[in-house]
Amino acid sequence: MVQQPEVVQVGGIGVMAFADMPELVNYIVHDDGTVFAGSAIAMNPEKVIAAGKNPQLMQLLNQADIRYADGMGVVKVMRRKLKRKVKRIPGCELWQELMAKAAQTKTPVFLVGAKPQVLQETVAKLQAMGVQVMDSQDGYFKDEDALIERIAASGAKMVTVAMGSPRQEQFIGKCQQQLPDAYYMGVGGTYDVFTGHVKRAPALWCKLHLEWAYRLLSQPSRIGRQMNLVTFVWRYLTHKV
Ligand code: UDP
Repeated sequence: MVQQPEVVQVGGIGVMAFADMPELVNYIVHDDGTVFAGSAIAMNPEKVIAAGKNPQLMQLLNQADIRYADGMGVVKVMRRKLKRKVKRIPGCELWQELMAKAAQTKTPVFLVGAKPQVLQETVAKLQAMGVQVMDSQDGYFKDEDALIERIAASGAKMVTVAMGSPRQEQFIGKCQQQLPDAYYMGVGGTYDVFTGHVKRAPALWCKLHLEWAYRLLSQPSRIGRQMNLVTFVWRYLTHKV
């Protein structure tokens, strides 16, 4: 029996508290190969603030069945409210851990998203790890219904979608309505990072929780999103989140 995690309100959004990565991985893929039926979405301070200003984003976040803390700011609020250990779970790492567990438990997987070349390399790398990739589709398709039929026919129990937000979440929502028994996850640029087409912030920056600064320096157009981070920090310091 899998224990239900506590849900903590962060800026009006319920985020599930997981002690660490293995706890969340086991919550999603069970040792007998069955999966959590539903979808997961990463929560970070930027999204919390943006959702407060954008009802559509709020709806999208609330639509997910699991919201997990992928951002130190969210983790800090949760620790303060729960007075116990909660760990940050980076979405990119979560995906890789889930794939490793899928290989172990022979859970069938369907991959959607990214450019054809990136997707092909991702599939090959996962198969080399022993993952049962039933089928895949790059992120530049037109007919959503035809893809949903293919996913159904594949028998996949885990569907990961790398198309960026909010497209990936919209597609997941539609797919979930027709195939509610699978686990779904939007993974943004994860396949690009996994295959080395895009570099993640170097380990030291991550360790110092400065990934946001690395991204800002390498992609200054993210400044808008980062202003939301400043707002979040302010609200944290003044106990308003
Ligand atoms: N992408 C896609 N279809 C599209 C647009 C984008 O599959 O119509 C892919 C793109 O190739 C990349 C990912 O979606 O692999 C976008 O990742 P990004 O880093 O922009 O997403 P974020 O994590 O920032 O939402």
